[in-house]
Amino acid sequence: MGAFAPGALARVTSCERLELAAETETRGAAETRARRPRVMLFHCGGTLGMGVESFREDVEADASRPVPVRGGGKYRPLGASEYLLDISVVVPELSDFAEIEVEVLMNKDSSEMACEDWVTLARALDARREDFDAFIVAHGTDTMAYTACALSLMLVGFNKPIVLTGSQLPLGFARSDARQNLIDALTCCVASKTCGGAVDFYEVAICFSGKLLRGNRAQKTSATVYAAFSSPSYPALARLGVGVDWNHARLLPKAEKYTPRFAFDSRVVRVPVIPGMDMSAAYGDLYARGIRGIVLEAFGVGNFPATLIPWLTDQTTKGVRLLLTTQCSSGVLRPELYAAGLGAIAVGAKSGPVMTIECAVVKMMLHLANPTEFDLHHALSGEAETVDFCGN
Ligand code: ASP
Repeated sequence: MGAFAPGALARVTSCERLELAAETETRGAAETRARRPRVMLFHCGGTLGMGVESFREDVEADASRPVPVRGGGKYRPLGASEYLLDISVVVPELSDFAEIEVEVLMNKDSSEMACEDWVTLARALDARREDFDAFIVAHGTDTMAYTACALSLMLVGFNKPIVLTGSQLPLGFARSDARQNLIDALTCCVASKTCGGAVDFYEVAICFSGKLLRGNRAQKTSATVYAAFSSPSYPALARLGVGVDWNHARLLPKAEKYTPRFAFDSRVVRVPVIPGMDMSAAYGDLYARGIRGIVLEAFGVGNFPATLIPWLTDQTTKGVRLLLTTQCSSGVLRPELYAAGLGAIAVGAKSGPVMTIECAVVKMMLHLANPTEFDLHHALSGEAETVDFCGN
């Protein structure tokens, strides 16, 4: 069997060049046989596991279309799909480099996922932490970034790879990206030292379209192209092309302590600042309506018009927590730079690295439920490290 056989892919993960993978094939095969990594795949839903028949009406309506119209896709009943449960038959290459166990935790469109689902998933990961070397989470793409943030902040110090992936087209479609994304996710998992590989990879990440991104820095930035995710403020952890190039310097080091937290308070809103907007008219008394956290999406380094200050002061005085973010996708917050930003400081906002909006929202939810355990400005899991970096 040659270097390009499915089994060789496993060795590519621990070497960085395909030639090396070929050289080490014989030795690697023996090692792999001796200790096959155990990987748990939790399925949560999304396009990846949807059946082709979910789109049947559209396909029949216009069979000439090379790409079916994606309307009205329905989810199979939980557990009914061979795509979900018998993944090693549908994607046999997966079993070439790990023992895979699959559990369908839920089968939802990810837009239906809420804090309770993040907790269900985190508890499932926590319960199987000792039994497996790495974890894959198959998930809808729409809110995958939120779930990745939630897992990274809930399971600080988990110290094993948790790789979320999904696809833009269902696994059963000829042009689906699901197969490659699953194989790439597993490739990254088995490269970790926890699986007997050579890479210090222990964190929550999203693997999609040839990139492994830190989970709490990733954002869904395209609804239609295969490369749906970007990481505007942090470099990719790995790039999967013909070989796998790991960005070793950017991986989160192993944590000393495992600190799981399983509670969220979802009473949080995102408030994007719009030029000339009257916040009282737009938002009114959020505290009175039960909101306890505002993620303020300001301009640039944290600027907003002074007219916001009375409204913000009123809300924070009543007890709403405020987290300043920016509509820019990378850089640092420095509200002290301009007079316009001084208002942010007056209401308690702080300077600091830019977190993704997804991460800011999830962190606020976690903080509200665990107010004494960590400060909103304290980095928990690599979500707020500033990197001199442009674009990804
Ligand atoms: N609506 C789907 C979801 O996020 C889209 C996808 O999986 O790509 O669940």
